[in-house]
Amino acid sequence: MALPHGVVETPVFMPVGTQATVKTVAQDVLERLGANSAGAQIILANTYHLYLRPGHELIRRLGGVHRFMSWERPLLTDSGGFQVFSLSKLRKISDEGVEFRSHLDGSKHFFSPEHSMKVQIALGADVAMVFDECVEHPATYERTRASMGLTHAWAARSKDYFEAHKHEVPWFGDPSSFDEAERDGTPVAAGQTQKLFGIVQGGMYADLRRESAERLVAMDLPGYAIGGLAVGEPREVTREMIARTLEWLPQDKPRYVMGVGYPDEIEEYARMGVDMMDCVLPTRAGRHGLVFARVEGLVTRLNIKKLEFAEDQGPIDAGCGCMVCRRYTRAYLRHLFAASEPLAGMLLSVHNLSFYLDTMARVRRELSADSDAGDKSPASP
Ligand SMILES: [Zn+2]
Repeated sequence: MALPHGVVETPVFMPVGTQATVKTVAQDVLERLGANSAGAQIILANTYHLYLRPGHELIRRLGGVHRFMSWERPLLTDSGGFQVFSLSKLRKISDEGVEFRSHLDGSKHFFSPEHSMKVQIALGADVAMVFDECVEHPATYERTRASMGLTHAWAARSKDYFEAHKHEVPWFGDPSSFDEAERDGTPVAAGQTQKLFGIVQGGMYADLRRESAERLVAMDLPGYAIGGLAVGEPREVTREMIARTLEWLPQDKPRYVMGVGYPDEIEEYARMGVDMMDCVLPTRAGRHGLVFARVEGLVTRLNIKKLEFAEDQGPIDAGCGCMVCRRYTRAYLRHLFAASEPLAGMLLSVHNLSFYLDTMARVRRELSADSDAGDKSPASP
């Protein structure tokens, strides 16, 4: 996936940097995550949070979110829709957009497709998302269908605004941005713009998922997300909806499932054809003392705070080559948690993110080996 700030190998897992920071993990550490220290290829930032604080116009004045947070690799911003619907108070939805009160200070705000685009262009991530409505779960067929109709109308308005204003992105044709990025080995081609991805909705109804996918594909966007999943439905339903939606999305454009999942889920979805995923789980679990490890071939979640690790001289995961497993014992990490030391959450987040990135790196190697073997097979066309 070629983006203005670099090429991303897919399938890819994207760490979530809600407030322009992946919680507790500094940018130079993000650049060295994983067994091969290749680091995160792309991270996510949240439009709703950055709009409220410090404000998108401030970030625009400081050159965009890449420069603001000193991250020269690719970035993606969500539309703000999911947070408006899940975090804010007293929201009022109309065809025009959503009025809501800030979860920080109760102040009143209005997000429309146009405003979401304006904010995302000011932030200047490589990938921006259309503004969508996220239907609650469970929701009736009629309610889901009406919400999906609104999402489609908002996608068209998002695209119209984006096309008219995409050159306003902070780094558009900015020679200083170009030179600075080039020194880091990640050239930003002057005159490039963000990529605007569509979001398929349709709840847990396969026919609505198909209709939504077809409507968005007709808009000819450079990538498509599958939204509204992992909202409390059983995992078999998530998998079924992903499979039924992928059928209707072009294979030659990035396909992104938002907000999933456990390590075995992201592996399964990647093998089904999903190119991009993001989730707060590795960092959130890490801050709570939970680590992912492969025990006897199975992905297991361990609670490092348990007494059984008090004198355990081994690493979190003997098969993990991350900077934490190369250096620290389970006993030491357990002690940091017991003493409420902030380093504990940071080190566990680094391991968990590395575990996710290494999972995706392995899937990429295996998929590419499979396709090489397929190319050489006399039976393949
Ligand atoms: Zn590790």
